[in-house]
Amino acid sequence: MDARRFRIIAAAILLGLLGAIIPIAAMAYMSWSIAVGKEQDALNLLANQAIERAANTFKDAGRALDEIKAAALTPCSDAHIRRMRMIAINTSSVEEIGYFADGFLKCTSWGMTEGAIPRTSVDYTTRDGLGASMRIEPRVSRGKPMTAIYAGDYNVLVSPSRFVDILLEKDVSLALANERGALISVLNAPDAGLVKGLLGEPKKGMTDQAIYAVAHHDGLMAIAMEPRTRLADRLHDERLFLLPVGAFIAAFIVGTVAWFSRKRLSPLAELEIAVRKREFIVHYQPIVELKSGICIGAEALVRWKRPDGSLVRPDLFIPLAEESGLILPITDQVVDAVIADLRSVLVGDRTLHIAINLAAADITSGRILDVLTEKLPPTGIRAAQIWLEATERGFIDVEAAKTTLAKARALGHSVAIDDFGTGYSSLQYLQGLPLDALKIDKSFIDTVGRNTATSSVTSYIIDMARTLGLFSVAEGIETEEQATYLRAHGVDFGQGWLFSKPLPAPDFIAYHRNTKQKYGAAPEVIQVGIAGLPAA
Ligand code: C2E
Ligand code: CA
Ligand code: CA
Repeated sequence: MDARRFRIIAAAILLGLLGAIIPIAAMAYMSWSIAVGKEQDALNLLANQAIERAANTFKDAGRALDEIKAAALTPCSDAHIRRMRMIAINTSSVEEIGYFADGFLKCTSWGMTEGAIPRTSVDYTTRDGLGASMRIEPRVSRGKPMTAIYAGDYNVLVSPSRFVDILLEKDVSLALANERGALISVLNAPDAGLVKGLLGEPKKGMTDQAIYAVAHHDGLMAIAMEPRTRLADRLHDERLFLLPVGAFIAAFIVGTVAWFSRKRLSPLAELEIAVRKREFIVHYQPIVELKSGICIGAEALVRWKRPDGSLVRPDLFIPLAEESGLILPITDQVVDAVIADLRSVLVGDRTLHIAINLAAADITSGRILDVLTEKLPPTGIRAAQIWLEATERGFIDVEAAKTTLAKARALGHSVAIDDFGTGYSSLQYLQGLPLDALKIDKSFIDTVGRNTATSSVTSYIIDMARTLGLFSVAEGIETEEQATYLRAHGVDFGQGWLFSKPLPAPDFIAYHRNTKQKYGAAPEVIQVGIAGLPAA
């Protein structure tokens, strides 16, 4: 795998993982915080109800105290005691009313007091000026601990449970305190440690074990709490809704990442990048004159040089390039490479030519000729030194092909029909085309020396070229036997591994120099002669 693919795949995996994890984690977190928020709201509501209840209890007590004071009866007279009793009975939160003189309880709603019962100290004073003593032992009725509320010479006893007299679910608990943190009452045994902590720093929140909410009102403070285990049900409901949403978003993100990376990994995307980065180079396969062995030129064969240095054969990308239209810029890059690689050799040896392969789109559009007429003149390379090879696939639009080929020849280029014999090239059809040469396909050369059905076709094709007045070039010559046969049948030029494989530019330049020393230079006539041939 090359570095670019690796980067794309690594990035896709990373993005995919993040895209899958983040939405699900976010939804899980959201479910959790919504669940916590809802529980705290519910607790806050309870805390506020408790405060309201407590405030009402204080008001009741205050009313009872006002009423007895306003009665102004002779202290501890029968009428006074009777009145106290009536008020205690009629005020639901008040259990008992007492009258004090000189710091001692004199009489209560139950009757005269026996023994010396001192007035208890006041723990705190309410905003309405009532003094409250928490958890006193009622000495008269001898009942449960009570809260005493004082006003003037009177007090009333209130059962602490009255202050938080609301309905709670069994594991929810409550604590009621005054603003300064003095505990007034509790319900369902809340965690004493937590209550103590919250009295110091009241805010809603959560500990390892409990969720709680704190409400303040009218100088009172209520803390409602519940164990965190209760969160589970709420969390379940929220998750049921939000996790599928998270999964859906995650699936969407992962799908999008996969789609984009597949697209970026597609062969077409890679080819696009290669064109943009000009990753195409050209190798040159020598073409020799068969009778003399002189190198008269070369065919330019494109190779895709990957960033890792590996070469991709044209068969693997030319079809896709043709299909996608990327072949046009690739042909341009081939032209650029030929100029850059061989300019000085071509200028120095006018007998040398380079054959460039054209794709169907190059031929149909004729655009390649504009490219050549623009690029060649400044280099000193002559049009006659650039041959153009076209396959029959390029003749789909015969009229356009004819126009392009005729124009090419008029500009001085030679035109060869490539892979000749593999299409349905009839004599009649070929006669109508402006051509200079036929390149006999390798499949026919392969049959030479073998007694196969097609071997007779080879000599027929060679004859056809002669009949049409065209030069012939044999492709894919691998053995001396094939070369001898072709020479004997009058084939002009040959190309194949017998002479040389396609070579990088410097190697081709060296090859050309060596054969020139060995066999001498090709006469310029050959070259000029081909381009100068009249259209058949
Ligand atoms: P082609 O135009 O028929 O090119 C000849 C192919 O035969 C080359 O393959 C060459 O390396 C190979 N060959 C030459 N001599 C021998 C031999 O003795 N034995 C064997 N087994 N093979 C031999 P290559 O370079 O892989 O090119 C394949 C095809 O790709 C070319 O076939 C041509 O159709 C296309 N192509 C190459 N370069 C270009 C280009 O620049 N533009 C376009 N449009 N097509 C190109
Ligand atoms: Ca060719
Ligand atoms: Ca060919």
